[in-house]
Amino acid sequence: MVRCPECAAEIDVDEDEVEEGEILSCPECEVELEVVQTHPVHLNVISEEEEEEEQDQEKKEVLGEEKEEIE
Ligand SMILES: [Zn+2]
Repeated sequence: MVRCPECAAEIDVDEDEVEEGEILSCPECEVELEVVQTHPVHLNVISEEEEEEEQDQEKKEVLGEEKEEIE
């Protein structure tokens, strides 16, 4: 049994049935969790929103240099 790092809900994960890199989702808070370690299972919260924001900002910065004057 593993606890969700986000909401501490118990997640029924069998360390023999998961692989590193496997993506699970918490049944309580529905956050996506990556299995970063097995034996014992360790879960890492995947925060897609933050990643998307970072990517968007990078794109804006790259495009911004040329597009800023046009807009
Ligand atoms: Zn949770």
